[in-house]
Amino acid sequence: MQARRATLADALVAADTAVSDLELEQSDAESELEPVRQRLARNEKRIADGTVSDPKALSSLIEEVDHLRKRIAKLEDAELEVMEQVETAQAGRDRLRDQAAVVDEELSALSAKRDQQLSELDSEVAERRTERDRIAPDVPADLMALYTKVATTRGGVGAAELRQRRCTGCSLEINAAELRQFAAAPEDEVLRCEECGRILIRTAHSGLQP
Ligand SMILES: [Zn+2]
Repeated sequence: MQARRATLADALVAADTAVSDLELEQSDAESELEPVRQRLARNEKRIADGTVSDPKALSSLIEEVDHLRKRIAKLEDAELEVMEQVETAQAGRDRLRDQAAVVDEELSALSAKRDQQLSELDSEVAERRTERDRIAPDVPADLMALYTKVATTRGGVGAAELRQRRCTGCSLEINAAELRQFAAAPEDEVLRCEECGRILIRTAHSGLQP
């Protein structure tokens, strides 16, 4: 979700740039139109108020008015086109903003969920630590040393239940000959998985009884 949010942020920057470029283009188009409109108005006024008496000058003024009107129409068409592009770009940017808002909401819900789970795991770890500290003094030192040694090379887990003839640490099925040895071993003998080396814990479900 964070990667998606980052992609959206990049897209939003690009969309914002596109909108402001087009808005600038629109305002340029407007600035270009303004003096032409003013000139047209001035000329129309001069024609209307009869201050130009020379027929040749009047005719050229009328000609210029005609030319200015065509020029204005052309510039207005161009401006209209830019305005449409501005609207399209703004709509695209708004869609991206909406998407980003949705992603932000989901992200914040996910973060809250993650924090909640982390805090639950922290309390579970604390509980297990307490339990371990309570049990550890009763475990013989050499067995504890063996456990610790195996655990450091086996992802923190130095012992596994022997369940239905399998080591639950690495899933290896114990072969028949070894099973017979295991079944005959005294209760306090430390059995180990041949594959992963973990200390095997015997239970009623280990499959050692014939
Ligand atoms: Zn194993």
